[in-house]
Amino acid sequence: MRLAFLTPAIGCAILLGAAVPAAAQRQAGGAAAYDPANDPVQLLVKRLDLEQYKNTIKGLAQFGDRRQGTKRNRDAVDWIEAQLKKYGCQDIERITYQYNPAARAQRGRGRGATASPNGRGSYGNGPGGSRIFSDMRERGANNDSLAQPDPAIRAIDTEASTPGERQEVICMKRGTKYPNEMYIIGGHMDGIGWGQAVNDDASGSAIVMELARIFSMPDVQTDRSIRFALWNNEETGLNGARAYVEQRGPMQGKEDPPGSGRYPEPKWLAMIQHDMMMVDHGPPTPDGKLAPQQRPEADINIEFASTSKFADEAMKLAFFWRQADEKYATDYPAAVGPHMTNTDSDPFKDLVPALSLRENERGSQIGGNWDPTHHQPTDVLTTFNDKDFMLGLTSAQTTLGAIGQLVGATVQK
Ligand SMILES: [Zn+2]
Repeated sequence: MRLAFLTPAIGCAILLGAAVPAAAQRQAGGAAAYDPANDPVQLLVKRLDLEQYKNTIKGLAQFGDRRQGTKRNRDAVDWIEAQLKKYGCQDIERITYQYNPAARAQRGRGRGATASPNGRGSYGNGPGGSRIFSDMRERGANNDSLAQPDPAIRAIDTEASTPGERQEVICMKRGTKYPNEMYIIGGHMDGIGWGQAVNDDASGSAIVMELARIFSMPDVQTDRSIRFALWNNEETGLNGARAYVEQRGPMQGKEDPPGSGRYPEPKWLAMIQHDMMMVDHGPPTPDGKLAPQQRPEADINIEFASTSKFADEAMKLAFFWRQADEKYATDYPAAVGPHMTNTDSDPFKDLVPALSLRENERGSQIGGNWDPTHHQPTDVLTTFNDKDFMLGLTSAQTTLGAIGQLVGATVQK
């Protein structure tokens, strides 16, 4: 199997060989049988822990829905930064940008308008070029404080958003051989809907934070760099991710200061977003509510955009992720789909191969109301059980497994 897709299409013959993971090469050549006990990536995946993942989600949930432009959002940014510091993540920085929705001609541009007021539609087109084979539709975001039955959560979520300066936190694992190249792993820390934004998107943010924690352990080395990004303002139209692309894009691959061996913004190789990671309960009940249990066929969904400039490379990368699920995940399988949409990977998709990991396909399934907690007061800790949290951890195992191979991770003995 050729793994040429692991490098961007434009560019470097040198990279081509170097980016092929050794383990994948061995598999392809069939020279040596795979030995999990001697696979450093497997050691790292085993460091993931369900309780730890849940605790990180709970840490984020203490700030309620973390709506952008509020103190609870800024407090959450501070908390994330403090955790990353504790983990020893390198090069912790804040991206600062302005968000003034009144001045914007098209608020929420790029998010797709799919929500239905009554949760019904007809068989037909869904977001991102998908097709919804059902008359079920996701409802619009909840804006009614009284829909939140828990007075404590309602109180935390009370402050309204005001325009102005915004910040989001990033950090890095510096590669030792190729510090000038990196993969970007993202999740969005803001939410809406008068709940605790647990599934959307503490569940994805916690994956990014857990990977930052494990890759920052003192015995872990990687050939290439990894960027960890906790995007803000996703819910208003991907504004945090867009600000990053605008500000950091031109800095790619530049050594600063010259001769230092330091690259504040390594060259981007791919971007992988994690958004809504826990709920695959299947279609909603006839009255549009969350089906009570995680369905036995639950899987994680890896999506690329078949309409993007890097569609072919992204598709191959998606199947590499699926293979990482088979190799490293303990509980749930993964599926690949072509309709990536409504995600922070969007601003990256015509610049590098970009993927989005989710609990369901964003268009056909979430669009068809498979997650009735989406942007609703039910997106709170008490809604979810360990089978849900485990779906999130499966994505963490999958991405850690995939990225660990891509960056050439090793563990000192
Ligand atoms: Zn989200």
